[in-house]
Amino acid sequence: MKPIDLRSDTVTQPTEAMRAAMFAAPLGDDVFGDDPSVNALQEKIAAMLGFEAALFVPTGTQSNLCGVLSHCQRGDEYIVGQMQHCYRWEGGGAAVFGSVQPQPLNHQPDGSLALTDIEAAIKPDDPHFARTKLLALENTLGGQVLSQVYLDKATKLARSRGLATHLDGARLFNAAVAQARSNGSDARTEAHRIASIFDSVSVCFSKGLGTPAGSALCGSKDFIARARRVRKMAGGAMRQAGLLAAAATYALDHHVERLAQDHANARRLAEGLEGIEGLSFEVPETNILFVDLIGPARERSAELLQYLKGEGVLATGLYRLRFVTHLDVDEAGVERAVAAIRSFFRA
Ligand SMILES: *Cc1c(COP(=O)(O)O)cnc(C)c1O
Repeated sequence: MKPIDLRSDTVTQPTEAMRAAMFAAPLGDDVFGDDPSVNALQEKIAAMLGFEAALFVPTGTQSNLCGVLSHCQRGDEYIVGQMQHCYRWEGGGAAVFGSVQPQPLNHQPDGSLALTDIEAAIKPDDPHFARTKLLALENTLGGQVLSQVYLDKATKLARSRGLATHLDGARLFNAAVAQARSNGSDARTEAHRIASIFDSVSVCFSKGLGTPAGSALCGSKDFIARARRVRKMAGGAMRQAGLLAAAATYALDHHVERLAQDHANARRLAEGLEGIEGLSFEVPETNILFVDLIGPARERSAELLQYLKGEGVLATGLYRLRFVTHLDVDEAGVERAVAAIRSFFRA
C-alpha cells in the first residue's frame, strides 16, 4: 500500500492534467525574456495579486533572497519574526549573500509581530546602527493565518516609518482560502487583499498548489528589474523554464479553491485525534496540524514517528510533530493516519 505522506505539502506529484499542460507549453529562452509560458505566468500572478510585475524563480528561498536583496543594500537590516522562513530556515542567505542583517523579533501567540516590538526595533539614523529598511512578514506562518486587520496595521506602521514591506506568502493561497471561509468571500479576492498591501510578495507553487518546482516574486517594475539581477547572480535564471511555469499557471487555474479540501482534511485529522491522552494540539486553520506530546508521552516522538512509518504514515517533527495535508492525501488517507496514531496510543 502506498504510504500516506504527511511530511509536507511539497511532496505532491504533478497530476496527469498538470503534466499534459507542461508538455503542451510553448517554450523559449527566459534569459532572453522570450519564453511565452514564463511571461504568461508572470503577468497572471502579478495581476492576480495586484502588482505591476513578477519574476519566476526556482524556489521560495531564492524568491525571498531576491526580495530582501532588492529592498536592502549592504549594511541595511530587515525586521523579521524568529520563526519566519526568511530568517530561520534559509541558511542566513540574506546575511551571507547580501550583508543584510536580520533583526528577529519574537512572535505573539497568533503568529504576529507586536506593533510595539516593530516600532522599538526600528533604529534611528545613527552610525552605530544598521539602517532599518524592511519589514518582512509571513502568511500563513506555521499554518496560522495573520488577520487582515493586523496586516493592514503592520504595513501602515512600516510605511509611516519609511520601511518597505515584504510578504513571504509561500502559502498565501492557504491563508486566502481560510480567510474567505471565515468572511464569506472568495479565495481570489482575499489573496489580492492580503498581497496588494505589501511592496513585494513571494508565492510558492510547489507547496499546496502542487507543482514540481517554482515560486514567483511580485512587486513594482523597478523592484522586479532589480530582483532579476539578483536572480541571475544567484544562478536562478533558467532557460526553457516555461515547462515549469506552465505547471504553475495550471495550478493557479485549478488548484486554488481546492485547498479548502486540504484544510477540511487537516481539521478531520485533528478531530480524529481528540481525546487521546498525551497529545496536545489546536484544530488547524489551514493544512498544517502541529501536535505536542505531553506528560508521559513527552519523549516518545521519535518512537511514534518510527511506528507510523511502519504503518505507512509519514510525518516529521523537528520542534513539534507536524502533519501536513495536500493534493495527494484524501479522506481515506486521513482515516488511516488517525487509526495508526490511535493504535500507537491504544486509544
Ligand atoms: C517552503 C517555504 C519557503 C521556501 O521554499 P523552497 O521552495 O523550499 O525554497 C519559504 N517560505 C515559507 C514560508 C515556506 O514555507
